Amino acid sequence: MPFAGLGLRPELVRAVAEEGYDVPTPIQRETIPLALTGRDVVGSAQTGTGKTAAFLLPILHRLAHDHQPSHRLRALVLVPTRELAEQVLERARAYGRHLHLRAAAIYGGVGMEPQTQALRRGVDLVIATPGRFLDHMGRGHLDLSRVEVLVLDEADRMLDMGFAPDVRRILDALPDARQTLLFSATISDDVDRLARRALQNHTAVETARRASPADGVEHGIFAVDKLFKKDALVSILKLDFMRRVLVFTRTKYGADKLARHLKRDGVPAAAMHGDKAQSTRLRTLEDFRQGRVRILVATDLAARGIDVEDIELVVNFDVPTDPEVYVHRVGRTARAGAQGLALTLMSPDEWLLMADIEKLIGQTFPREVVPGFEPAVAPIVPMPRAQPALNRGPSVRARRGSARRR
Ligand code: AMP
Repeated sequence: MPFAGLGLRPELVRAVAEEGYDVPTPIQRETIPLALTGRDVVGSAQTGTGKTAAFLLPILHRLAHDHQPSHRLRALVLVPTRELAEQVLERARAYGRHLHLRAAAIYGGVGMEPQTQALRRGVDLVIATPGRFLDHMGRGHLDLSRVEVLVLDEADRMLDMGFAPDVRRILDALPDARQTLLFSATISDDVDRLARRALQNHTAVETARRASPADGVEHGIFAVDKLFKKDALVSILKLDFMRRVLVFTRTKYGADKLARHLKRDGVPAAAMHGDKAQSTRLRTLEDFRQGRVRILVATDLAARGIDVEDIELVVNFDVPTDPEVYVHRVGRTARAGAQGLALTLMSPDEWLLMADIEKLIGQTFPREVVPGFEPAVAPIVPMPRAQPALNRGPSVRARRGSARRR
């Protein structure tokens, strides 16, 4: 079905055509007609499946219904991070470019004043992180009496980041008669509890098996000694000259240290994590997006909401302790139907963590070694038959090429 068949206003159909979208993604096909009827929706979808447009398009449709938009707050999108707030705002501007609506992003780590000014001038749509939104609420900068639609985006992350009390306070302040849409990569018990509190008679939309990475991701594991991880990564990055690579580390300190190590070894990289100033984070992200930075080393928190097209390779420098974090990380590649590669550097102490991830995803990934950096000890869990020694660059390219031709 084309976008024109979903019941959206022509200005929106025109805007998505200008974005180059040919057909709605499955989550959009399911969610948009439902949301247009005013129903509450819980959407669980893989990352990078187009869920932002799935909620923004029906919201913009509703807001544009008035011929003269009032610029009084009618729709609120709550997100876990500043980057995601900026990104959703950017999407709202793109999809709403033929409408006369005003939107603002409200998040912490930057001055209050410009946000206060924007709220005073009047906005139809606010995209906010919960803490800063509450700050503005407390100072009387917000009139919530006309809010008709609430979106809780990446609800699982909001809860993981401890925003539950803030979200509850915001829910209590919103009108009961509203539409609520909740999106989450995974629907845990906590998310389910939040949904029962925030939504009424909702319809669940599930376009993918829970906790499954996009089909276009090819997974691989390199078994390496912990001490050699950095050098193994350097040799992988030198071998396979991917254009845009995102490397995940568990800690902020680890991200800085690794970026420094890569630079020293002739592989220029930038680090991004929660201790960097907001302006630096946005600049780094823009450099990455524009190709001025080819390799970005990030922590999970900073990476949330990164929507950069054509990330060809995601590297897990550490195996995540929470298997669902793996799904989220690798979701940064192979977005919107593209192909991508996810490589994990696994030291012997991480074998069990990797086994948990494979169990969650329901697949066993091929293991390889980086010649010269093999682990010294034998695995304590049975490992599947190892692939032939590393010849990753050409072999991966060839396989990905042939996948594309199919
Ligand atoms: P999201 O899951 O919302 O972060 O979207 C992932 C990416 O898919 C973004 O870069 C969108 O611009 C893109 N996208 C969203 N909807 C479509 C569509 N119908 N066709 C192609 N790309 C899309």
